[in-house]
Amino acid sequence: MAYSPVLMHLIESLQCMPGIGKKSAQRIAFYLLERNLEGASVLSEALATAVADIKHCERCRMFTENNLCHICSSDKRKKSQICVVESPADVMAIDDATGYRGQYFILMGHLSPLDGIGPEELHLNQLEKRLKIEDIKELIIATNPTVEGDATAHFLSEMALRCSVQASRIAHGVPLGGELEYVDVGTLSHAFFGRRFID
Ligand code: ZN
Repeated sequence: MAYSPVLMHLIESLQCMPGIGKKSAQRIAFYLLERNLEGASVLSEALATAVADIKHCERCRMFTENNLCHICSSDKRKKSQICVVESPADVMAIDDATGYRGQYFILMGHLSPLDGIGPEELHLNQLEKRLKIEDIKELIIATNPTVEGDATAHFLSEMALRCSVQASRIAHGVPLGGELEYVDVGTLSHAFFGRRFID
């Protein structure tokens, strides 16, 4: 191998990122070392801090460096609605597009039995506990309109039913197979306010 051990290690480490293979990793490593040492230094510090400090919010599973995220600890947000989303990016998208100011629960994925992701991996028992203990009037299900997102939504609506909480699912307009964070503001807002209650 023509590269030094340190350079090799960097190139191999970069490949832990999704979509980054060996060639991209080499390109990134050379770029950082030759053209952007300062950026590389900021990145390594940001990564080290994030890895050391960021954990999941105890209540909604958002990434945060505190026990509770800024949404869960806010007293300006409605306590009676929980919106369930697949990714932290969906929280930003829904807050921005709709002006929704309730609570969230972030699944960090969706049910996917083939990949070994079941209710436990999504920490759904934590959500169920909230539905039982907190005074929740509506569970807004905003999973992606994909096969897995639909299966997850079904599971969530059954859970809501068990806990005697009204469930709703955000409506059409979100393209089939699409992901919320990539949907434009108008469409997302329309889908959110057009949500339907699940009997
Ligand atoms: Zn939270």
